[in-house]
Amino acid sequence: MAESRRLEGRVVIATHNAGKLEEMRGLLAPYGVEAVSAGDLGLPEPEETGLTFGENARIKAFSAAKLTGLPAFADDSGLCVEALGGAPGLYTARWAGPEKDFMAAMTRVEEELRDADANLPGLRRAYFISALCVAWPDGHAEDFEGVVWGTLVWPPRGPAGFGYDPMFQPDGHERTFGEMTGAEKHGLPPLGRGLSHRARAFISLAESCFGARFDERGRD
Ligand code: IMP
Repeated sequence: MAESRRLEGRVVIATHNAGKLEEMRGLLAPYGVEAVSAGDLGLPEPEETGLTFGENARIKAFSAAKLTGLPAFADDSGLCVEALGGAPGLYTARWAGPEKDFMAAMTRVEEELRDADANLPGLRRAYFISALCVAWPDGHAEDFEGVVWGTLVWPPRGPAGFGYDPMFQPDGHERTFGEMTGAEKHGLPPLGRGLSHRARAFISLAESCFGARFDERGRD
């Protein structure tokens, strides 16, 4: 990876997803950067033509950095289900269709799991992955990744969070992400445990770009 560079001043959060924007704002808040969103700036959403989550995060971060002249922070994330060969993977958002209907998306996951005879918890393993990229207008970029494993439950449980949260029960927990507060899902140590994929990727980013230090409890 290229030498790390400190992130300061105004930063664009290159997402048009309200749920992710809220989580990213919360993650950046303690570091004194002024976060503006790509949506608020009226930036177009670039086509996500990458073959990996990391490539798509880079496309989004560079698009926003070049258009604004500011460093930009982007995430590309998804749900990968073991019994479905990693699907929906890069197509996680698309499974919700143009209406962004995540109940329909979760129902599709459930139907495909049943078709694959994946009914026992041990056969319903999945992980969320978050690839983060910070890109500067001069072409410098830094990449980070975080993963959280869990089991997919049915029916979905809990009103909190967004996307596939209500059917994802992270390892070591009795509740789904949909049943957790934001602080439990993505709070950073010492207040939270850095549980979500995005929080875990962000811990690496904060250590590199802000010189932050977290103890090992934030990484289990
Ligand atoms: P993208 O990163 O915007 O291409 O889309 C990722 C998709 O993955 C989102 O639309 C969500 O449906 C799903 N996703 C990513 N992170 C989470 C999460 O923390 N909880 C639930 N769903 C998520």
